[in-house]
Amino acid sequence: MAFRDGAEALERLKTDETLELVVTALELPGLGGLELCWQARTLTSQRRQLYVIAMSSSHDHRRLSEALDSGADDFISKPPNPYELSARLRAAERWLAAQRELMLLATRDGLTGILNRRAFIDQASTALDNAQYEHTPASVIMIDIDHFKRINDRFGHEAGDRVIQQLGSLIGGDGALAGRLGGEEFAILTVGLREAEATAEANAIRCAFAATEFRCDGSPQFVTASFGVAEASDGDCLSELLRRADHALYAAKASGRNRVIAATRIRLADDHGDAAALASIDSDRHAA
Ligand code: GH3
Ligand code: MG
Ligand code: MG
Repeated sequence: MAFRDGAEALERLKTDETLELVVTALELPGLGGLELCWQARTLTSQRRQLYVIAMSSSHDHRRLSEALDSGADDFISKPPNPYELSARLRAAERWLAAQRELMLLATRDGLTGILNRRAFIDQASTALDNAQYEHTPASVIMIDIDHFKRINDRFGHEAGDRVIQQLGSLIGGDGALAGRLGGEEFAILTVGLREAEATAEANAIRCAFAATEFRCDGSPQFVTASFGVAEASDGDCLSELLRRADHALYAAKASGRNRVIAATRIRLADDHGDAAALASIDSDRHAA
């Protein structure tokens, strides 16, 4: 797509994250080409790469070095020679493909294909900050597979890996902000869901996982998982939210596993100083 000036191009680059390549003249009306190179560079992140080709009719070497220092990746003369331009575009595509591959390797968990711990923390923090800014509710679901060590011990590591992969595929649907935090622990950030809705979603995952049959040494096996859910309060950062969800997950484990516990329910039980109330928090399990 083409733009008449730098400001228009920049606006589109900011709003359309699918754009990966910019070819700009340095001599532009309004927002200059160097400024556009610079601003485009600030839009790149762990999740987005941009390749910028600057064009100028000037053959001044200072101009060329200024463009590269301002964030351009390549420089061609204006008007561009069609053969040169298409070769430069092919080089850009090779670079972008390598970057995409690197980004995938750096952000995805190798076993499940969902986000790894670092990428989850990074992306969920940003999504939570945005939700807080827009006063949109957001909740975290933390998940830990029950008695997972027994699967490994009885059927071997490969069988354990298949169980982890299955949970990963259940939570890693299109656009889900889901990550493997480590071992057999997972987390999901559900933007737009209040605690009760996130609890219902967690229960749906719990049921689907518990109903999955694994063939281990020829025999059918069923595995369960425990869930903790917490909704963000005003000003909560991700680590605080994860801490509360983890606390709820711990209660789910302590009260019998294969269940979902919401953080506010533990708070209620805690407020009553009531260990029995905590131990009997299992209505989510029966409700599903
Ligand atoms: P609980 O119900 O209390 O959560 O018990 P658990 O057995 O699930 O938990 P524990 O923390 O005792 O064991 C987790 C095991 O997960 C130990 C570790 O060897 C195994 N594990 C960690 N990462 C992987 C992995 O990538 N693949 C497999 N197969 N096992 C893993
Ligand atoms: Mg664990
Ligand atoms: Mg476990």
